[in-house]
Amino acid sequence: MDEFSFINAIKPKAYKQPSLIKGIGDDAAVLRSTSDIVTTVDTFVENIHFSLETMEPFHIGYRVLAANISDLAAMGAEPAFYLVSMCIPKKWKQESLEEIYQGMNELASLYRMDLIGGDTVSSDRLMISITAMGYVPKDKARYRSHAKPGDIVFATGTLGDSRAGLEILLQGQEYKDKNYYIERHRLPKPRVALALGLRDIDRVALNDISDGISNEANEIAEASRVELTIIEERIPVSKNFDQFSEKQQYDWKVSGGEDFELLGTVSEQGWKKVQAVAAETDTPVQQIGYVHEAAKPSVLIQSAGETKQLTKSGYTHLK
Ligand code: ADP
Ligand code: MG
Repeated sequence: MDEFSFINAIKPKAYKQPSLIKGIGDDAAVLRSTSDIVTTVDTFVENIHFSLETMEPFHIGYRVLAANISDLAAMGAEPAFYLVSMCIPKKWKQESLEEIYQGMNELASLYRMDLIGGDTVSSDRLMISITAMGYVPKDKARYRSHAKPGDIVFATGTLGDSRAGLEILLQGQEYKDKNYYIERHRLPKPRVALALGLRDIDRVALNDISDGISNEANEIAEASRVELTIIEERIPVSKNFDQFSEKQQYDWKVSGGEDFELLGTVSEQGWKKVQAVAAETDTPVQQIGYVHEAAKPSVLIQSAGETKQLTKSGYTHLK
């Protein structure tokens, strides 16, 4: 593969963001802004974060960018730019690499995001690192530290679907709603519309569900120094989720991860607004618990009247 022809092929023909001064083609990109800039990076490594056995190149690109956009949404930011660093094995053909970029572009165009740079090196396995940037009005970023006792805990969408989709791809048997679950795994839709719709609310704590609510809820509890109680029966799941074993259902909805839904906390008054925005943006939301004062930050889960501690049992690296 020739690097020059590759960059030329993936380079946008036109840019959409008015704040972009210089895109791909020089030593670095140039932006101009008056808002707060939110920036995030995610790295995906072949056979750790994805496998070519369950994903096509298009899905890989789509999903890596979805993870970044989901982080921007969880900060309340409007997606604007991304940069892509690629470590590419020699055997990869330019055509397949372009498919990865088509996957990214499919999602990027929904938000008028511009690809403004990257880096290309060779390596023995495929590795993709995306840096994404977005805008939020001055001092309006949504932090995990914003939860307060008395808040309602809510989640968007349904949880555990992505992990169920992976299982279906790995098992290869027949399942109900097979294509639905597979699509939830390969083409996750970050909750940007809801996150941006919440801008009028004074205070809301947000975290995106990348590792599973067990992790995300603990992160909110620690950052806000509060205790969260989650009611298991209220965790939203898809129709026909009960075709999986009870253990799978529990593990996947609590710590399956990669659903790229949002977990949030908001005051009772704010909750009414969240529900109104959810209706306007066609986003399912569900109250799954509440926040209270605590001497030590923690997360509790209530299942059939019994209360247990919910630890960060989701998949954690370096543990
Ligand atoms: P430099 O050597 O100055 O870092 P490069 O020759 O690596 O520049 O890159 C030239 C241009 O192409 C830069 O604008 C860079 O951001 C962009 N670019 C390089 N690799 C990629 C990639 N994998 N994806 C997107 N843009 C890329
Ligand atoms: Mg240079």
